[in-house]
Amino acid sequence: MAERVPNWLKQRAFLTPDRPALFFEKSTWTFAQLYKRSLSWAAELEREGLKKGNRIGLLVQNTPDAVCVIHALQQLGAEAVLLNHRLTTNELMWQLEDAEIAAIVYDPVYQQTVDQLDDTFIRKDVTAILSPIEFKSRDEFSLADTCSIMYTSGTTGKPKGVRQTYGNHWWSATGSAFNLGLHENDCWLCAVPIFHISGYSILMRSVLYGMPLRLYTHFDENEINQALKRGEGTIISVVSAMLSRLIETLEGSYHPNFRCMLLGGGPAPKPLLETCAEKKIPVFQTYGMTETSSQIVTLPPEYSLTKLGSAGKPLFPCQLKIDAPPCSEGEILVKGPNVTAGYLNREEANQAAFTDGWFHTGDIGYVDEEGFLFVLDRRSDLIISGGENIYPAEIEAVLLSHPAVREAGVAGVADERWGEVPAAFIVEKTQVTIEELRAFCEERLAKYKCPAYFVKLESLPRNASKKLLRRELKTRFKEEK
Ligand code: ATP
Ligand code: MG
Repeated sequence: MAERVPNWLKQRAFLTPDRPALFFEKSTWTFAQLYKRSLSWAAELEREGLKKGNRIGLLVQNTPDAVCVIHALQQLGAEAVLLNHRLTTNELMWQLEDAEIAAIVYDPVYQQTVDQLDDTFIRKDVTAILSPIEFKSRDEFSLADTCSIMYTSGTTGKPKGVRQTYGNHWWSATGSAFNLGLHENDCWLCAVPIFHISGYSILMRSVLYGMPLRLYTHFDENEINQALKRGEGTIISVVSAMLSRLIETLEGSYHPNFRCMLLGGGPAPKPLLETCAEKKIPVFQTYGMTETSSQIVTLPPEYSLTKLGSAGKPLFPCQLKIDAPPCSEGEILVKGPNVTAGYLNREEANQAAFTDGWFHTGDIGYVDEEGFLFVLDRRSDLIISGGENIYPAEIEAVLLSHPAVREAGVAGVADERWGEVPAAFIVEKTQVTIEELRAFCEERLAKYKCPAYFVKLESLPRNASKKLLRRELKTRFKEEK
């Protein structure tokens, strides 16, 4: 691996200055324009006394201004700490202190939140009008340097700050291109947040590939469907909730140049995958996490029928193994140049996460005879009942296939006889009795997997990434009893 590479945006603006880099609403930015504005931002941050190695928090929306600041931090050599705007003030303060940020750049829509933060760092409005100041950009990036810090979603515990190096992003973009290929007319739609690795990685691919992206502040299924029908994007990154809204409202079909729905972030319901396969919508299921700088395992659509539900095979530069005998279930271990160098300030977690270069994902799965990965669930959510392993995700999938169920969550609760038993928590779409749900489960699941308890809730506990918090379901259960 070459240790140093040309400064990405500088090189891109030199090679193909007039190519479109970014479409946003009615405006188009070329790579030269993106580079120019990023240099102005880098100069502004330098004028404030900020320099290489400083950490700078970003509390931003998907806008061209935010994209420019992300690139500006790379120009300056500062580390970007990407913040989720759905976090509470306390959660934000914890991350800002953990990362020891020197400044925060924020979108004015979050002004109120920023006003509530302790006043220990420089604050900059991302929409600021900048005065022209010279900035001497660096010629090279070192692949070993930290480029960004992203906190994990905090689904299984306190969020951990993941260090993503330039090399991690470089290899993530390369691995994706080796798999999906690169077409001359490619344009990647980005309606996922740029503060998550799903969105941030699209920005990196755009610069490295010389490919435009189309940025959306909010996800609107009608707007995206129209864009895809008009042929305004060839690839889009989605999570399953976005995909089901797109499919529900789609009339007609997408433009022939549309070639990839990259579906990640969590498990995908089988009925949704089946509908997409029937409608010939090219879905690439993927598995990845903050620690792998986006996808690490991906399933191309030619296998979408034969390997329905699989997350696929590792990307070319990556490896995968299961910490168990062949074809049996165990923890998923991954290795590759896109895997993080480690967590910030978490010595113990780092020790536990790596063995001989293999990263322990904390997820359980199995690999079939042909090498395809099936992700089962989180290790920490596994229910062991009378010696049998039960995966909450499997029961949730059954409950979600009931027409009266809007949301479902399953967690293990203590039981004198079996050690633990599954308890189901549901949010109704329409009225349904517990007897009916029980019968529905009994028809579809082995007896030991059928929930021993059913609890109806108004909503399910979720974190700032909208992921289900099963550990809070356990607490709710104790409170209700
Ligand atoms: P924390 O690590 O703080 O508990 P998190 O793991 O939810 O939070 P992310 O990095 O945002 O934080 O999410 C990655 C996780 O999402 C994976 O480890 C896995 O559990 C889940 N996931 C991603 N892709 C898939 C998939 N295809 N199928 C099932 N689960 C998936
Ligand atoms: Mg995780």
